[in-house]
Amino acid sequence: MIIKKIEFYPLALERKERFVTATGSNKIAHNIVVKVVTDDLIGWGNACPSRVTNEGTKSVQRALKLFSKRLIGEDAARINNIHSKMDALLYKNPSAKAGIDIALYDLLAKHAHLPLYKLLGGHKEKMLTDKTIGIDEAKVMVKRAIQYKKEGFKALKIKIGLAVEEDAKKLHEIRKAVGDDIKIWVDINQGYDVNETINFIKRVKHLNIEFIEQPVKFDDLISLQKITKESPIPIMADESVKSPEDCLNIVSNKCADLLNIKLMKCGGISPAIKINDIAERGRLKVMIGCMGESLISIAAALHFALSQKNVVYGDLDSHFSLKKDVARGLTFKNGYLSPSDKDGLGIEVDIQ
Ligand SMILES: [Mg+2]
Repeated sequence: MIIKKIEFYPLALERKERFVTATGSNKIAHNIVVKVVTDDLIGWGNACPSRVTNEGTKSVQRALKLFSKRLIGEDAARINNIHSKMDALLYKNPSAKAGIDIALYDLLAKHAHLPLYKLLGGHKEKMLTDKTIGIDEAKVMVKRAIQYKKEGFKALKIKIGLAVEEDAKKLHEIRKAVGDDIKIWVDINQGYDVNETINFIKRVKHLNIEFIEQPVKFDDLISLQKITKESPIPIMADESVKSPEDCLNIVSNKCADLLNIKLMKCGGISPAIKINDIAERGRLKVMIGCMGESLISIAAALHFALSQKNVVYGDLDSHFSLKKDVARGLTFKNGYLSPSDKDGLGIEVDIQ
């Protein structure tokens, strides 16, 4: 399993609709597809840079160029060793590292003739995923909520975080429109402070919201801790958790009830397993989340989630929002996402 060649392909994937959160908006999902070649196998990975990790398409390509030079001739199966080498070359740059990590796990599982989730321990076979509704006028958000429920989604993630009163009103209207038999999750994306969050929770606490994600700035753990202590609705940390160290800090100081792990934030499957292990020991359940990713890394995130008992929530929906994706091979049925039974990630990639 010696690495012979590493190639990468920057892609600007157009979304069906402009996607708006409390921190920004975009119509294009920038992804960099990674291809790692050994003597007889090809492994596919994907990097999706974002503001959350201070990465852009240029910096990811620079990082991948550097990693490629250093990793030719290495044993692709020694994934932890390759992580050490990447970490020694470049601090942070987690989505670039995730691109390589995912391709290596695809190779390893193909070599083992197993779907990746089984190689990782295979806890379950399908994962419920939500569909995210970006910030928009209330009537547009309500329309989307009804449409996604019709499409079979059993959970909706509602993006808010610009104005408490208006946000609470939107939540009331959405719950009224979709009824009680669908899960509602809320993501504030760092848009509020402590008082705004407590005020918002008071207004929506009877709406059966399962959890609220990242109400305050990622580095304001004191506020996150305060909100977690006071809130009757469980609080999930997202932007605040990018590494096993962040997770340990949040667990030790009881700064959240739940965690959102994304391969692009932490550097791939290998670090994601470490984060989940710490969360599980600290009795924090985990959601697997995503950025604006193509199906390649959504598949990787799904395989990771399926292998872990403690990963109980799925937010693996970005590929549904793309006009045209670069890969195929996942099935969505009755609200659940499942992989194919093929080896590795079990996907077909439309790049030669
Ligand atoms: Mg989030």
